[in-house]
Amino acid sequence: MVSEITIALDLDSVLADVMQIWLEEYNTIFNTKIKKRDISDWHIHNILSISKQQITDLFIMVWQKRWQDIPPTSNDLSDVIIQLQDKGFRISIITKRERVTMPFVAHWLDLNNIPFNDIVFIFDDVSKSHFPFFLLVDDSPINAKEVVTPKQIIIFDQPWNKSLASYTRISKLNELIDLV
Ligand SMILES: [Mg+2]
Repeated sequence: MVSEITIALDLDSVLADVMQIWLEEYNTIFNTKIKKRDISDWHIHNILSISKQQITDLFIMVWQKRWQDIPPTSNDLSDVIIQLQDKGFRISIITKRERVTMPFVAHWLDLNNIPFNDIVFIFDDVSKSHFPFFLLVDDSPINAKEVVTPKQIIIFDQPWNKSLASYTRISKLNELIDLV
């Protein structure tokens, strides 16, 4: 079965370190010096004086206008994914986002030579847990709760998911190779 050999990877804050650029833009607009480590809550509006809609709009702007500046979470993503594929795994990128950002995601994946076997763009509220994979790597505390046995989740370490201490965690994608 496809799901038994498929590892799903989240995009934002697992492959693409988008919050670095998002915060650059935020700090310019609001004349602040917020760092990524300050974002200790998944719900950014609990930390910063900004509405949910403004948060989404700023993400859209960053992907549309600054996608070339978004760094990968590490420089070896391509090598790591090829090693996982060589071990027999399929790589499925599953990303929940605004549809207008879709072409820029494709450009970013090409620019950074990210290999993958398929990609799922989710535009509604359906849970990632419904898609075919046995393991999801994600930074979202919401996905952590939704992915249940026999599916597994590994948490990609970010300041906003520190409360998920009991989960298997990685801070670089290359740590995944020894876990699968
Ligand atoms: Mg994410």
